[in-house]
Amino acid sequence: MEYEAVIGLEVHAQLLTESKIFCSCSTKFGANPNSQVCPICLGMPGVLPVLNERALEYAIRAALATQCEILAKSRFARKNYFYPDLPKGYQISQYEEPLSTNGSLEVESNGLKKKIRIRRIHLEEDAGKLIHEHSQNLSHLDLNRTGVPLIEIVSEPDIASSEEAVSYLKKLRSILIYIGVCDGNMEEGSLRCDANVSLRPKGSQELGTKTEIKNVNSFKFVQKALEYEIRRQLSLLESGGKIVQETRLFDSTKGITFPMRSKEEAHDYRYFPDPDLLPVVADSKWVEDIRSSLPELPGARHKRFIEEYKIPAYDSEVLTASKEVADYFEDCLKYYDKPKTVSNWIMTEVLRELKGEGEGIKTFQITPEKLSELLKLIDDGTINGKIAKDVFNEMVSTNKRAGEVVAEKGVMQISDLSEIEEVISRIIERNPDEVSRYRAGQEKLIGFFVGEVMKATRGKANPKLVNEILKNKLSES
Ligand code: ADP
Ligand code: MG
Ligand code: ZN
Repeated sequence: MEYEAVIGLEVHAQLLTESKIFCSCSTKFGANPNSQVCPICLGMPGVLPVLNERALEYAIRAALATQCEILAKSRFARKNYFYPDLPKGYQISQYEEPLSTNGSLEVESNGLKKKIRIRRIHLEEDAGKLIHEHSQNLSHLDLNRTGVPLIEIVSEPDIASSEEAVSYLKKLRSILIYIGVCDGNMEEGSLRCDANVSLRPKGSQELGTKTEIKNVNSFKFVQKALEYEIRRQLSLLESGGKIVQETRLFDSTKGITFPMRSKEEAHDYRYFPDPDLLPVVADSKWVEDIRSSLPELPGARHKRFIEEYKIPAYDSEVLTASKEVADYFEDCLKYYDKPKTVSNWIMTEVLRELKGEGEGIKTFQITPEKLSELLKLIDDGTINGKIAKDVFNEMVSTNKRAGEVVAEKGVMQISDLSEIEEVISRIIERNPDEVSRYRAGQEKLIGFFVGEVMKATRGKANPKLVNEILKNKLSES
C-alpha cells in the first residue's frame, strides 16, 4: 500500500505592538527578567484586562492579507491549565468565536501553484518563559513575555509534504513582515510553529490519526521534524502498527521526534468565555480602512516586477520573497536602470554574501547606491564583468567604494586594440598545435585561447574584444 502525508500547521506570530495585549507593559525583547510585568499580566486577583486596540488592528491586518473573513463579532475565552509559566492559571485566547476564518495562501510546490486553506486566525496572549538549568536542578521563570499579543494562524490539513510545509511557512512569514505586524524572527520566538501530521492510503479522502510536533523554531527544523515523523509513521503502519494521537517534541541534535510526557499533554482546557472582556465587534468601516491601508503584498509585487521590469518569473519570485530584498532591488533601479543586470547581481553575489534569502540586506554595507556604482563601471568599460566580482568581494571585505578598489588594484580593463592584439599574436605563436586543431574544425578551442589571453592579462582584457580579435586572427591562415 502507498501512503501520502497530510500536514496542517498552527503558527503563532508575535504582534509588533509596543505594549502587551491586556495591559500597558512593554513588549521589548531582551529586557531584564521580570522587569516588564504588572498586576494584570501577573494575574493578581481583582485586576481587569483591557484589550490593546493596536493588537486587534494588527490581527485584522494579518487576516485580511491572508484572504480571511473578519467575523462581525468574536469573543475571548479562557483556556485553563496549570503550568508555572502561566501565573493566571488560564490563557486568554479565542475559541468558539475567533476573529476570522476561511482564508488561504498560495504556495509554489514542485513548480505548481497550490492553495492552502487557512481555517482561522485568532488573537491570544503568550505565556512566560521557563529556563531550565538541569545541572543545578533549577528552573528560572521570566514573565516578561506573559501577555504579549499573538495571533494563531491555523491551516487546514492541505499540505502534502515537508517541502510544501516550508513553502507555506516562508510565504506566511513574508506576508506578516510585509504588512508590518510581526518581525518574523524565529530564533527569538516571534514566529513558532506546531506541525500536525498524519498518513493515509494514497488517494483516500479520510484523515488518518495525527501527531502534533510542538514548537519547532526554524524552517530547517520544521522540514527535518516532518521528514522524520513521516518516516516513523510509515514504518509503524507498514509493520502493522497503529499511530497513537499524541504531542511530540523535536530533538534537533538527534534529528528525531519523541513523545512529550503524557502528563503534559493530558489536556482538558475547560474553555469558557472570559467574563472580564466584552465581545469584540469589528466595525466594518474600520476593517475597510485597514484593508485599504495594506501595502502591496508579495504576490502582487511578484506580478508587477515581471510586467514593469520585464524580468523572468523566477527572478521576481526570488526578489519578492522578502520585502527587504524587493526594496533593495527597487532602490538599485533608482540609480541604475537595468533590471535584469541588477537582478542577476542580487541573486548571485549579494544573496550569497548574505548567506541565503537576504536577511540583513537592509544593513548590508554595499548599499544600492554602491552596487550601482560598480555596475556603471562595467557599462562604461572601466572593468569587465569577471573582475567586477572580485571588486565586489573586495568592497565587502574593505568597505571601500568600487572606484577606489579599481584604482588601488589597477584592474582597469584593457580595451586598447594594439595591446590586446599583441598578446593574442604571442599566444597564437606559442600554441601551433591548438591553432591547427582549431582551424581543422575544433572550434571549442576558442575557450582555451580566451583563457590564455585572460591569464596573460590577469583577467583584465576586454572579453568582447578578445573574442572578436581571436576569431579574426585564428581564421586567417
Ligand atoms: P486539535 O484539536 O488537536 O488541535 P484540530 O482539528 O484543531 O486539532 O487541528 C489542528 C491542526 O491540525 C490544524 O492545522 C489542522 O489542519 C491539523 N490537522 C487536523 N487533523 C489532521 C490530520 N488528521 N492530519 C494532519 N493534520 C491535521
Ligand atoms: Mg492544536
Ligand atoms: Zn502587565
